[in-house]
Amino acid sequence: MTTANPDFLKLQSNYLFADIARKVAAYKAAHPAERVISLGIGDVTRPLPPAILTALHQAVDEMGEAAHFRGYGPEQGYDFLRSRIVECDYAARGVSLSADEVFISDGAKSDIGNFQELFAPDSRVAVTDPVYPVYVDSNAMAGRAGEMRGKQWERIIYLPCTQANDFVPDFPQTRPDIIYLCYPNNPTGSVLSRAALQAWVDYARRERCVILFDSAYEAFITDPDVPHSIYELDGAQEVAVEFRSFSKTAGFTGLRCAYTVVPKALQIGDGQGGKVSLNALWNRRQCTKYNGCPYIVQRAAEAVYSAQGQQGIGAIIAGYQRNASLLRSAVSAMGLTVYGGVNAPYLWVGVPSDTDSWGFFDRLLQQAALICTPGAGFGAAGEGYVRLTAFGAPEDTQEAIERLRRLC
Ligand code: PLP
Repeated sequence: MTTANPDFLKLQSNYLFADIARKVAAYKAAHPAERVISLGIGDVTRPLPPAILTALHQAVDEMGEAAHFRGYGPEQGYDFLRSRIVECDYAARGVSLSADEVFISDGAKSDIGNFQELFAPDSRVAVTDPVYPVYVDSNAMAGRAGEMRGKQWERIIYLPCTQANDFVPDFPQTRPDIIYLCYPNNPTGSVLSRAALQAWVDYARRERCVILFDSAYEAFITDPDVPHSIYELDGAQEVAVEFRSFSKTAGFTGLRCAYTVVPKALQIGDGQGGKVSLNALWNRRQCTKYNGCPYIVQRAAEAVYSAQGQQGIGAIIAGYQRNASLLRSAVSAMGLTVYGGVNAPYLWVGVPSDTDSWGFFDRLLQQAALICTPGAGFGAAGEGYVRLTAFGAPEDTQEAIERLRRLC
């Protein structure tokens, strides 16, 4: 009989969202008249701005004309989008990159999940705790995580992010080969200052490791001391890959478009005393396994950078930021400690001392018909917290806030 990949069998199924769905379904069955509001989802709710829709429509029409029809596109993405990204997301911030260092894709989740393939199977991986689960699970699928011991993998190096270190991870005791950093952070909503991120870049240069930097939420940054890109820091192009997405920035969670920057200056060992370019390896990987993000979607992404596109998405982000700010005030007024929600769409809320993550989840559901995400689901250091999101419709967020007030 054909045998399954044993590394896939070591993965625990994702109990967190299944458990949440089961509890919510039971509550709804028992309270059919109650309108449940979710502050738990990590998905956007606002429709695409008109400038992006227009570009999408035009591209669809082109596909119906012989003169403009497009078949397979470049695996790395169309030049019109790659060069716009270089110009608007990087040159405008003083970062010099070339278009062939940018790879367009259908999502940061797949790029992040796939990128680990480029590293040796025995590479050591460091992640923050709590963590976006894709970093850990994709390495576990590749056999890099060892065995699960209790709630943690034996070969993964966990960097706790707690109130004590202000959610900024300390350097690991053991040298990792690969470090995943996500800022603004999902789930804690924390950010790294310029100095803190520079310290990580310096660490990676000293220890000769690679940082995989996930900045899916950079559009939410308002503080001028918080870098939008890791390449704003000295020497970062020699040690860091950056993942960006149009999902949360521009409402593309359903359309699907993202990009990964792999600077040519970034070289890793070839295992025989020489060096190899990560850009060349990623290009090789993508050409073999990926046939490119749809033309119509890349045209829609290009429109994000037009003046009207920027205005449209700016208004949407401002709406989510307003939700975050209102939620922050409401939760503080309940006497709870709250982090994040300033440069990020996520709020990390300390639960009351008489309960834990899941206990507080149950309390919000039973007493206010509100859904949150228990922090324990993101890692051991997430116990004692819940994550709230600001991606709801303004009227739902307002209603959720009223319910929180009544809970006080
Ligand atoms: N990175 C982080 C930290 C996320 O939270 C998410 C989505 O929730 C992603 C990446 C995935 O983005 P995409 O929709 O581009 O796959």
